Amino acid sequence: MGSRKPDEPGRAYGAMIMGVLRGWRSGWRAIGQQRGKAVVAGALCLAIALLSVCAAVLLDSRDDAMQRAQTVSQNLSMVAERDIRRNLEVIDLSLKAMVAGAEDPETMALPARQRDAVMFDQALTAKYLGAVLILDESGNILLDSGHVPPRVQNYADRDYFQAQKTHPDLGLLISQPIASRLSHGASIIVGLSRRINHPDGSFAGIALITLSVNYFRDLLAGLDIGPHGAIALFEHDGTLLMRLPQLPSQAGPLTSIRGGANFSRFVNEASGAFLGRSSFDGERRLFVHTKIEPFGLTLVISPAERDIYASWRHRASILGGAMIVLAIGYLLFAELLASELRRRSEVETELRVLSRTDALTTVANRRGFDERLEIEWKRMKRDGTNLSVLFVDVDRFKQFNDRYGHERGDDVLRSVALAMKRELKRPSDLTARYGGEEFAMILPQTDRRGARVLAQQICDAVAALAIPNEASEGRVVTVSVGVATFESDRRRAKDARGASSLDSAGELLKAADAALYRAKHQGRNRVETDDAVELETVGEDHLA
Ligand code: GH3
Ligand code: MG
Ligand code: MG
Repeated sequence: MGSRKPDEPGRAYGAMIMGVLRGWRSGWRAIGQQRGKAVVAGALCLAIALLSVCAAVLLDSRDDAMQRAQTVSQNLSMVAERDIRRNLEVIDLSLKAMVAGAEDPETMALPARQRDAVMFDQALTAKYLGAVLILDESGNILLDSGHVPPRVQNYADRDYFQAQKTHPDLGLLISQPIASRLSHGASIIVGLSRRINHPDGSFAGIALITLSVNYFRDLLAGLDIGPHGAIALFEHDGTLLMRLPQLPSQAGPLTSIRGGANFSRFVNEASGAFLGRSSFDGERRLFVHTKIEPFGLTLVISPAERDIYASWRHRASILGGAMIVLAIGYLLFAELLASELRRRSEVETELRVLSRTDALTTVANRRGFDERLEIEWKRMKRDGTNLSVLFVDVDRFKQFNDRYGHERGDDVLRSVALAMKRELKRPSDLTARYGGEEFAMILPQTDRRGARVLAQQICDAVAALAIPNEASEGRVVTVSVGVATFESDRRRAKDARGASSLDSAGELLKAADAALYRAKHQGRNRVETDDAVELETVGEDHLA
């Protein structure tokens, strides 16, 4: 090794030691951070899973709310439909009896009072019933239930009269809502009519019963379909008989839904349920519709979507909000735990580093040295390279202590450690305090010659400190150095000759110790290598 600037090796050695310490530190810190990240990631996954389960349950209960609304509406619809049908059937039976009476000459020949008793069903006195009439072929009132003589009125211009007149087979016909003629337009009615024939089959007039549309309104008004729901009853041509709530435009008797978006579904299907938008007010509703046959009517019960989901929305916002708050709290807790883990792992790192550092000299301690030596030995074996070890022992140090005191002795140990550090050049080299006033060095990939040169530099550097030691041969503090090297190439050559050699890191240390022992015996402040002992048995065990 040639001439060198005194500061550079020192810096390099310092950097090396710091590098090793930093390596340990960052390794353990990385593990701590990994653990922290795993905790946070795990908590995040769990929180997402919990929220997903919660969302799935909420969506499911939303579907349930819709399903329930549909079932309830269908039940309401069924009950209302049966009620309407039964009432219309009763009225139709009365019409049939009126037709039969009107077509029977004997009945017609009875005195007025008996004839009316036979022809007009006395049960037909309900409050929603209007007129109960027999009209002749010109549309005039022939018989008028409850009125003798009959009231005078002509119905020839009514659509239903004309329809019954021109189509003999219409049967029961329910008219569109019209203003009642007998009450002078005071009420809106529908007329239910059946044709009366002469014996030869020609048109003889109609039997007519009128029914107030309020009948339908009052019948359905009691159904609870929510604050934004609607009920509608209409004829198959789209004419609205009634709607709840009443439409602002429903002033006159004729309002049609024929042009509405949902109309075709209402008339094409016997019954059904679907979500759609109302053509009257744009509200989204669940339309549950059913036809009332053979009367040509359709009943639609349509609760509003927002009413259906109202209580679900309320529950979902409370439950969802609580779950989100819980998830956030859980994540915060996990983050707290993770930061505690990181902190603990940093403390562990510090402790680990401290447990491998010598407190007096701040170089590695024996534990750190042993761990590194095992690693370097294995690496050397694997790579087939060289490995050198130095033992450095302060000469006549007992006397130094006795003479100058332990405190000065400690200062010397610090100075020697520093001087050794300065001589190291590679980051992979390691200086350690092996025990007492004894230091050791690991020099990976260094052959015997290079190790010897370095050992001599250390000897010279310590002597150059010129710390007085009267007991020492050179009057200054000096060190003796033992060098042992395992050289993979030479080992192979020796194996070929059948020679014994070093088989473990422990033996390498023993060889270095033996070399140190010889350096002491040969006068101190010098370097001895292990080549001399290599072919002999290792001498006196100098290791503590
Ligand atoms: P030699 O030249 O043969 O090595 O002689 P020596 O006196 O150095 O050898 P010996 O092993 O007999 O003495 C070692 C002494 O080192 C004993 C003790 O007083 C001293 N010593 C060991 N550890 C410390 C320490 O931490 N601080 C101080 N001040 N002295 C120490
Ligand atoms: Mg000594
Ligand atoms: Mg000693």
